[in-house]
Amino acid sequence: MTTGKINVSVENIFPLIKKFLYSDHEIFLRELISNATDATLKLKHLTSIGEANVEYGNPVIEVRIDKEGKKLHIIDQGIGMTAEEVEKYINQVAFSGAEEFLDKYKDSAKDTGIIGHFGLGFYSAFMVADKVEITTKSFKDEPAAHWTCDGSPEFTLEPSDKQERGTEIILHISEDSTEFLEESRIGGLLAKYNKFMPVPIKFGTRTEKKPFGVGEDEKMEEVEVDNIINNPNPAWTKQPSDLSKEDYQSFYRELYPMQFEEPLFNIHLNVDHPFNLTGILYFPKLSKDLQIQKDKIQLYQNQVFVTDNVEGIVPEFLTMLRGVIDSPDIPLNVSRSYLQADGNVKKISNYITRKVADKLKSLFNENREDFEQKWNDIKIVLEYGMLSEDKFYEKAGAFALYPTVDDKFFTLDELKDSLKDNQTDKDGKLVVLYAQNKDAQHSYIDSAKAKGYEVLLLDSPIVSHLIQKLEGDNENLTFTRVDSDHIDNLIKKDENAISKLSEDEQEKLKTTVQEIVPSTTYTVQLEALDSEAAPFIITQPEFMRRMKEMSQSGGGGMFGMGNFPDMYNLVVNSNSELAATILNTEDKTAQESLVKQALDLAKLSQNLLKGEELTAFVKRSFGLIK
Ligand code: ADP
Repeated sequence: MTTGKINVSVENIFPLIKKFLYSDHEIFLRELISNATDATLKLKHLTSIGEANVEYGNPVIEVRIDKEGKKLHIIDQGIGMTAEEVEKYINQVAFSGAEEFLDKYKDSAKDTGIIGHFGLGFYSAFMVADKVEITTKSFKDEPAAHWTCDGSPEFTLEPSDKQERGTEIILHISEDSTEFLEESRIGGLLAKYNKFMPVPIKFGTRTEKKPFGVGEDEKMEEVEVDNIINNPNPAWTKQPSDLSKEDYQSFYRELYPMQFEEPLFNIHLNVDHPFNLTGILYFPKLSKDLQIQKDKIQLYQNQVFVTDNVEGIVPEFLTMLRGVIDSPDIPLNVSRSYLQADGNVKKISNYITRKVADKLKSLFNENREDFEQKWNDIKIVLEYGMLSEDKFYEKAGAFALYPTVDDKFFTLDELKDSLKDNQTDKDGKLVVLYAQNKDAQHSYIDSAKAKGYEVLLLDSPIVSHLIQKLEGDNENLTFTRVDSDHIDNLIKKDENAISKLSEDEQEKLKTTVQEIVPSTTYTVQLEALDSEAAPFIITQPEFMRRMKEMSQSGGGGMFGMGNFPDMYNLVVNSNSELAATILNTEDKTAQESLVKQALDLAKLSQNLLKGEELTAFVKRSFGLIK
């Protein structure tokens, strides 16, 4: 038997880097500008503590395209490197051996199942370049160095005559990456990744109009100025006390230049224990159907854009918000499933939930009227949060609102209080009457109001789930839609109501109607109502309707229910004139068309008559008045 070690040679590394280091080749620019930023900030630190005897000045990082020479330059005025440091930091790191490299590679790949995303920073340049040059001069009084590498493990290192402090990286862009010589492509990348980096970044020049001359001779002239593409001091890095409402709004504009609607309010995040996180979240106005959101929350690390996929970091119900989160403590080089298991990330998510709940509570307490006005624009997010996050649900008791059809707003406690005298059922439970559509349920709302009942307007798509949850948590509370059959429990029927029809006649009428209407859909029920009341009334069992709604609106079958059939009660008013007419019509065909017409009218008033049935109804009605 022979045992041994498979020899993984350094030659294998570069092709690997090129192909797999990052799935997105464009990342190289972010990495190189991050290095340039680090180098600049390190110098800033050293000068501030008196360890570097040089002028810090106003350093700028420059990105320059040399289209003809097929080169891309990234130039900084940071600490630079001595030849010795180039040896140490550039040569040794990646060339320290294939084993170390693969160790690193193996670890990061273990949890992720993906290869990309482990920071080899500088070496990502080889994803887009055949050859890379570094010319660098340290802030220390030592000669500059020039390093080159053509993607094989061999490099050259020699003295250079560079005089200015700092580092210039030159990428000889490879044939298959010439897109990175396009101004629009690089400009786009800078706008995406570097818009808020802490050191000014220059990319080309632009002309600016400037006044010159004095007094009457003053004229405007066009001057060329550096085109600085970033804002090094974005709002989230400042203290909330230093920011006005306008500052928050203009930062919103900066983040989302294409958003013209003002956000409703913002939440400034700022913690440094047990993790570091800053950011600003904005509540946008959301439309009912939650149209696909293009403008999402952006995740940064030390002002470097990372992603706008914050799934797992921000609780799901808040992913509809906008804004930025900046945290060096979020592990980036891992898969989403790993992220969800990470303790720090869970803490961050909980922190954000808590901050949002606290902010909502204080907005509610500070200016309830204003909060009520915003309620309709934010309720979907909050209701979804109440359903999906228990912690949020608990806190929401303090600010979640239940509006009435007359635009009054109750908290749950206030609602219970207002119901307790007038709206209880025979078991003593508080009955919350609600409507989901003011127009469709108009007549029911009207009659409930006439009896002095309070009717809520709960019209968001997930409200049936929320009702279910509220009932589960509040034993003495029951929700009933204004047009549901359960309203009988509340609206006491006159037990002594006398039917004009004899028992035999009632039985005959019921059978007649039952034979004509489809029995799978309608349960026929006779009631001795006022003779002026509608002859046929359709109600739906609350439970059935709610189940059906939940099965439809569950956000992709969230609660895993099948499709529910439609089932209704058909209440026939035995005291109505029509009831008598139906009963006394001998001609079977005439009787049938009376029942069908009455049923269709009842359906029409419930918005249930559609399509073919509606067409047939209209045709039949014209026939009747001909
Ligand atoms: P990382 O940035 O994660 O340390 P890199 O491979 O990107 O890894 O860089 C390795 C090292 O090379 C850096 O830590 C830094 O010391 C040095 N370096 C890279 N770019 C520059 C630069 N522009 N100026 C000065 N030093 C640099």
